[in-house]
Amino acid sequence: MPEPTVALIPAEGPIDLVVTGVDVLVRPGDLRRGVDLVVHAGRIAGLTEAPSPARERATDLIDGARLLAMPGLVNAHTHSAENPMRGLGDGLPLEPWLATLMHEGGLYDAEDHYWCSLATAAELLLSGGTAVIDHLVMTPISAASFDGAMRAYRDSGIRGGVSPLLSDHDATVGLAADLGVDVSGVVAMMPEQAPAMPTADYLQLTEDAIGRWHGAEGGRLHLLAGASGVQWASDELLGGMAQLAERTGTTMQLHCVETRLQAASCHHGWGKTAVERLAELGVLNPRTSLAHCVWIEDGDIGLIADSGAVVAHNPAANQRLRSGRAPIAALLSAGARIGIGTDGAASGDDQNSWIAMRLAALIHRDPDEPWVGANEAIAMATELGAHALGVPGLGALDPGAPADFALVDRRAPGLAGARELEAALVWSESGPGVRHTVVAGDVVVRDGQLTRVDLDEIQHHITEQCERRARTGPQSPVLEATIARLQEVRQRLAARQGRTHVAP
Ligand SMILES: [Zn+2]
Repeated sequence: MPEPTVALIPAEGPIDLVVTGVDVLVRPGDLRRGVDLVVHAGRIAGLTEAPSPARERATDLIDGARLLAMPGLVNAHTHSAENPMRGLGDGLPLEPWLATLMHEGGLYDAEDHYWCSLATAAELLLSGGTAVIDHLVMTPISAASFDGAMRAYRDSGIRGGVSPLLSDHDATVGLAADLGVDVSGVVAMMPEQAPAMPTADYLQLTEDAIGRWHGAEGGRLHLLAGASGVQWASDELLGGMAQLAERTGTTMQLHCVETRLQAASCHHGWGKTAVERLAELGVLNPRTSLAHCVWIEDGDIGLIADSGAVVAHNPAANQRLRSGRAPIAALLSAGARIGIGTDGAASGDDQNSWIAMRLAALIHRDPDEPWVGANEAIAMATELGAHALGVPGLGALDPGAPADFALVDRRAPGLAGARELEAALVWSESGPGVRHTVVAGDVVVRDGQLTRVDLDEIQHHITEQCERRARTGPQSPVLEATIARLQEVRQRLAARQGRTHVAP
């Protein structure tokens, strides 16, 4: 076992927090038993032999006798606005599901965004999640919508990032036309809800939001650059966002080939893979995270790994929407940085990173394929995914790292019989064992209760939004016609690709 280390503990004066006599999983494979975990100024100040003199000066003490401190889980990709749309469209593939979501979701004002983002933060924090990237769908797109979501992340105490989901082009239309179907305006643009703006306005709106929010609360809040997806964005938008991220020191997120139709749309539109297009536009770099990457091609794997870009893997949504499985084991063995996301609450559908982590280990175990191990799943859900926020040291509990961790009860059902700790964390804990959650040194969940926001009030507002958005009466003929057209495109693409059977 490595020696306990001491660093960054102030020589005198009060110390913010000491978790006494606690087992600390610094990262998978590195467990320190029964140390004092000293937290000061938002950072891990030391992992010291217990009892440490720091206890005498601690402003706050938590008895760690039966607890495990582990890095907080990082939710690398979600969409908060789906919180009042849970369970939507069971069995639909992504394109008709997305049309249903946009059609039935309707409009969101700043207050709606506030409560949706707060609900995301609350569910994550209560289960030991400490960071989130909210790929924000705004209907309509506005400065107030950015601010509604960011106020929620500020108030909740989570390490929160918002990336705008912006579209100014739709390559699906060109492919569909080539296949004899008109889908203009139905997949990505949602013209009634999100009137198209000039691309320069999208860039300016995002730059202004970065100026208001990025780095606020001592660096806890992030405002990322972003676009909706490779096939839904112009060169100007993608390249402009990548430059904006570099110029302002933030990161960037977008969707990348979640479905076969998206991958084929990129080939049709640009004559290359989506990943090759991103590389040419200067988007494939360590600041960028790509959600999904289910239909990347063999040559893309090395491009992604060599670039340092992060893949945000969303196993629940990929299975729920029948999109397929990303080549995660191959990406890992190529050295790619992969995070894990829940995806939105209408496709994930919970906001529980434990379940996403378990699925990431579970669905990549075909008998003849490389597989994903428990330690790899934890690394993805913590240190690897944290790269999408670009915070040095985030995702492991080394001295000097941000003090973002969960304290899990080792005698709760998930861990009481744990023969192998990391494997048990993946296979048998799912959040109920989390007693306290600490973000940037603040105890934001104590004894299973949120300390900064009121869960009942949040759920009241989510229920109200759910009822307000609920469809009364039969399904809209417009939506039915849209779904029929999208299904027709999927069928015709399958026929062109020589696939004889496509499930509806
Ligand atoms: Zn998504």
